[in-house]
Amino acid sequence: MTVDAELEERITRIALVAHDQMKDRMIDWAKAHADVLSKFELFGTGTTGGRIANEVKLRITPLKSGPLGGDAQIGAMIAEGKLDMLIFFIDPMSALPHDVDVKSLLRLATLYNTILAINEATASRVLNHVRPAG
Ligand code: PGA
Repeated sequence: MTVDAELEERITRIALVAHDQMKDRMIDWAKAHADVLSKFELFGTGTTGGRIANEVKLRITPLKSGPLGGDAQIGAMIAEGKLDMLIFFIDPMSALPHDVDVKSLLRLATLYNTILAINEATASRVLNHVRPAG
């Protein structure tokens, strides 16, 4: 299969995570892509997911807050083959108490070759190349 063919792969489940300083940008990004995002099954860490549900009006399953294990829950979904794509707006300017969880999540997404975007520019382009399954 070519790389282009893989990019057109049909997927189902997308997780959305944004660090505190990036949450407003995640909300703006999700609003701009709400029509496309609504076609997928969405998951989010607690605060990110709650804001997306309230402010973007998308159906999204909230997990625990990132620092309380939400990143680890998403990592476990990846390890179990239960997540297809991760949009993770990482704050490049702040040290985080749960940095070990962030690293673990990125490591698992890399290990399992999960579709992964860690900034807006990539997230927008990748979202335009996936189609909902079924
Ligand atoms: P939050 O978690 O959406 O619950 O804030 C994100 C994170 O810090 O990993």
